[in-house]
Amino acid sequence: MRNNNIINKLKRYILIVEDEFINQEILKEILSNDYEILVANNGIEALEILKTYSKPISLILLDLNMPLMDGFTVLKEIKKDKDNMNIPIIVITGDKGSELEALTLGAVDFITKPFDATEIIMARVNRSIELSEKRIIVSASERDELTDVYNKHIFEEYVGRINKYRQNEKKDMIVLNISHFHLYNELYGKEEGDKALVCIANVLKDIARINDGIVSRLQRDYFALFINHLDNYDELVNKINNDLKDKYNISNIIIRLGIYSSNNNEDVDNCIDRAKLVCDEIRNSNSKFYNIYNDDDQKNQLFKEKLNHDFNKAIANKEFKVYYQPKISILGDKFKLASAEALIRWIHPELGFISPGMFIPLFEENGNIKLLDQYVWNEAAKQIKEWQNKYNITLPISVNVSRADMFDEKIVDIINNIVKESGIKPENLYLEITESAYNNETDQIIGIINKLRDLGFKIEIDDFGSGYSSLNTLATLSFDCLKLDMKFVHDMFKNDKTLKMVGIVSDIAKYLNVKLVAEGVETKEQLDKLKQFNYDIIQGYYFSKPLPNDEFENLFGKEFK
Ligand code: C2E
Ligand code: CA
Ligand code: CA
Repeated sequence: MRNNNIINKLKRYILIVEDEFINQEILKEILSNDYEILVANNGIEALEILKTYSKPISLILLDLNMPLMDGFTVLKEIKKDKDNMNIPIIVITGDKGSELEALTLGAVDFITKPFDATEIIMARVNRSIELSEKRIIVSASERDELTDVYNKHIFEEYVGRINKYRQNEKKDMIVLNISHFHLYNELYGKEEGDKALVCIANVLKDIARINDGIVSRLQRDYFALFINHLDNYDELVNKINNDLKDKYNISNIIIRLGIYSSNNNEDVDNCIDRAKLVCDEIRNSNSKFYNIYNDDDQKNQLFKEKLNHDFNKAIANKEFKVYYQPKISILGDKFKLASAEALIRWIHPELGFISPGMFIPLFEENGNIKLLDQYVWNEAAKQIKEWQNKYNITLPISVNVSRADMFDEKIVDIINNIVKESGIKPENLYLEITESAYNNETDQIIGIINKLRDLGFKIEIDDFGSGYSSLNTLATLSFDCLKLDMKFVHDMFKNDKTLKMVGIVSDIAKYLNVKLVAEGVETKEQLDKLKQFNYDIIQGYYFSKPLPNDEFENLFGKEFK
């Protein structure tokens, strides 16, 4: 059996450089069962083939004694060419004295003429290829222990090489993931889980073999398949599922594929990321089993990258604008403007108006949110002062505080300094902290909140009911205001339970002796019901959308109904 299991899924090409027809034929006869053979009749032809041939060549058999250009010159030329210098070369010679020189010039082995027994030639060829392939991968153990497919590192290395040699051929990077694999493990045990991974790897190996490609296990239950471009992915999904069922008796696993096709020599890591991105996008879908990375995904990704990239410049150029949405007190018969919520917008010089839903999640991920929040706190504090000076009105403003802010002890000093510098009282800056910020590590957060309250700041629990904070958290936390999550208001007339909840939250607020805010109020009907439930403050499009500061000023002295 052939001993070349290093890249056994790729067809290997051997280039024979030999001027004598009979020798060409003998070598072809010996090797063509196992290898694809290319023949050059002389050195010049050989160099031309190396320059233009699109497949990776695994080995060169080079006759030293040739007309036009002798083997030594060819050898030297190849060793100078950085694209081909690593292809192992075995020299063919009838002259014992040349062997040493050839080896010094970089040949890996030699075959003597007249030719040795077939087995000897085969052994030398196989071994040279194997050694050269191993050399690239000595640094890493190349295969995943469990499934025997390539690990990510080696996979990337080979994909890079294939890309280089097969430029302009369209190829697919496909990431496969098992849906809810942790549940499978829990249900059937780790051993069965491992077995499933091995079976999937085997199925993918078959597919790779048929489609001229390679397979890797990237991590846990993620595999990557790099193959020639396919036109029909329904067929691919069916094949994988059928093979799992027919060959391995596995039918209770759902696999999903993310596909990124390209014919450019793109960064391998990028290709994998993109395929994985679209694979993860359909994680919870009941109807989609594959997802192809398309222009929209690309635009989306580029858009995100651009926003991240432009952040610092935007802060410096004051592209972020703070809008203000009124919060109306509905106690008693007369409604009146009680405060405002500061909401950030990005007026991007090229992209125009960008709403926070687009960029806040990005900046929460990379930490920029902390800087952005401080920017807003600063603007809001200055705005309070400005309205005091201009209209002799003190309108408290609430600002949003992100989860990330709450893990930084310095936040207390930062906020306090902002307030001092702008010359307003802490009690006029309300801090809206989203409920989900309390989920973990509550001790730390409780500590910070207590410090802020001691300094006089008002704490508002934002999006109440959206997270999982327990009643216990509510009892241990000291705060001033509860803001019901918008979706309750949105759904309050859709089902009785939600309406009941809206009422119960009011009881809780009264019991805890804190103010109660409802946001997202759009209709008179909602407003009336909330008033009936004794809600203190209402925020929503019914009264006004968030407005830039100059438009907001028109609300001063306005009557609300
Ligand atoms: P949020 O803190 O829950 O803010 C309320 C959102 O509801 C705002 O969206 C507001 O414009 C919108 N809204 C107000 N009334 C209505 C209504 O009647 N109907 C509907 N459908 N929506 C209404 P916006 O301004 O797009 O902000 C979205 C989220 O972005 C905010 O949710 C907040 O989580 C975040 N955000 C905004 N500005 C900042 C900021 O300066 N810092 C931080 N950390 N987050 C911010
Ligand atoms: Ca808020
Ligand atoms: Ca909210």
